[in-house]
Amino acid sequence: MTATATPNAASRTDIAQNSRVVIIGAGISGLATAYYLHQQRPDLQLSLLESADRPGGILQTIHRNGFLIERGPDMFITRDPEALQLCEDIGFADQLIPTNTENRGAYLIHRGKLRKMPTGWTMMTPTSLWAIVTTPLLSVPGKLRVLWELFAKKKRTSTDESLAEFTKRRLGQEAFDHIIQPLIGGIYTADPEKLSMNATLKSFAEMEREGGGLIREGRKQLKQRQGDSSSSGARYGMFVTPADGMQTLAEAVASQLPARCMEYGVTVNTVTPTDDGVQISVQGEKDARTYDKVVMATSSQITARLLSSSLPELSQSISSIPLAGASVVSMGYPRSAIDHPLDAFGIVSPIKEGRPLIAISISSQKFARRAPDEHVLFRVFVGGALQPELMDWTDDQLIESTRQQLAELLGVSGEPLFTEISRWENTMPQYHVGHVELVDNIEEQVAGIPCLELAGNAYRGVGIPLCIRSGKTAAEKIISG
Ligand SMILES: Cc1cc2nc3c(=O)[nH]c(=O)nc-3n(C[C@H](O)[C@H](O)[C@H](O)COP(=O)(O)OP(=O)(O)OC[C@H]3O[C@@H](n4cnc5c(N)ncnc54)[C@H](O)[C@@H]3O)c2cc1C
Repeated sequence: MTATATPNAASRTDIAQNSRVVIIGAGISGLATAYYLHQQRPDLQLSLLESADRPGGILQTIHRNGFLIERGPDMFITRDPEALQLCEDIGFADQLIPTNTENRGAYLIHRGKLRKMPTGWTMMTPTSLWAIVTTPLLSVPGKLRVLWELFAKKKRTSTDESLAEFTKRRLGQEAFDHIIQPLIGGIYTADPEKLSMNATLKSFAEMEREGGGLIREGRKQLKQRQGDSSSSGARYGMFVTPADGMQTLAEAVASQLPARCMEYGVTVNTVTPTDDGVQISVQGEKDARTYDKVVMATSSQITARLLSSSLPELSQSISSIPLAGASVVSMGYPRSAIDHPLDAFGIVSPIKEGRPLIAISISSQKFARRAPDEHVLFRVFVGGALQPELMDWTDDQLIESTRQQLAELLGVSGEPLFTEISRWENTMPQYHVGHVELVDNIEEQVAGIPCLELAGNAYRGVGIPLCIRSGKTAAEKIISG
């Protein structure tokens, strides 16, 4: 078998019975790929290679002092249906719990003080004119500028632009600085001057292009949906989580796969497509393994590295997707140590406030069973694309800063019952302006390599449902040859 860089695309055919398919990476993307491959073609010989000793990748739940702590994601959206669908497919849907109905909403920090998000302001759509007029977050000219959106000239082309350009054009500089940057930038841990509208927030760009603008379309949508209108910031009714933590979702998917398919503690070093399959070199193994097809469900950084010698051009394209990192500091406290009503799910911090803070999530307000009775669990996000230097902070610096922020903002006093620090270096792919075209190009290159498919959070969505969609799509492509 000779290794070649670009086997002929014309050799694509439907996958043969009993073919050997290897999936690299047992994060949620790789697990979904394996699950849907197995569902549709139980005859295939699947191998899921994972360097860690557990499934889930970024999905990691730990337990401390009776608290349930998510190191990574703590919920998923049901609007993109793939995650809920997967839960239904594997009989896990009854394990899901919704966000609490009390205290929905978020605080923004404004000139050092906590201010509630204006009622009815969901993501980028201000829907309540009264809330715009009365919010302390904007000056009078800032409010008028937001209301001007009703009359602002529309951009009719679909050329990409950044979140910052779009927001300043539609809602003005103040709304960008004080509301949109912390709200959306926090979700993507991104630099809004670079974040692509087409790749991340296309529906809002379409509200302008094809609808009546953000305020009008937002109001229309508000009328159409019932029940969640009192919340602001995010539509919390659309989010769910497994009662016993995100890790249990990964374990539930893994349990549906044939036992021999899961190989933990296996680190892949290189992936080399050949004329009739693929060679995989594994750390500590002398001979390369051979398979008929491979799905690479590793992060973009690792996928690029594994392909760097066999497919340098593709590797280069994948590695040009920028990455950012963040640290999550989780702290548990008795309720009595907190001098605040905690009447929200969290706090987001505008970069203009100059705090070493992206956001504070009050996990025990969001979901049941995250903390024992009369206790509170905070998850504090630090770093992101706008403060990358904070990734170099030591644990002591992170702890001291977090305690100071919690004390200043929420009147938290005394020692935390425990602290858990999760460092996610280079983990968050940044979808910059032009990302859609970059991924189109990557997919074109992959289409020329019959044995290879990609899945994961670097390409068409970072959220869990979209990672699952990427795995499902990769499975379909593998099956259809
Ligand atoms: C702090 C944080 C909070 C988040 N919050 C949310 C949220 O609330 N909701 C939401 O929807 N999304 C959230 N996300 C995003 C979401 O969690 C991720 O996009 C998603 O989990 C990525 O899954 P994945 O399978 O693509 O990648 P990963 O989870 O990174 O999986 C890749 C796997 O590949 C393995 N691997 C790596 N190298 C090798 C190798 N050489 N050989 C074999 N195996 C290898 C890794 O060990 C890992 O298990 C969050 C992300 C972070 C970091």
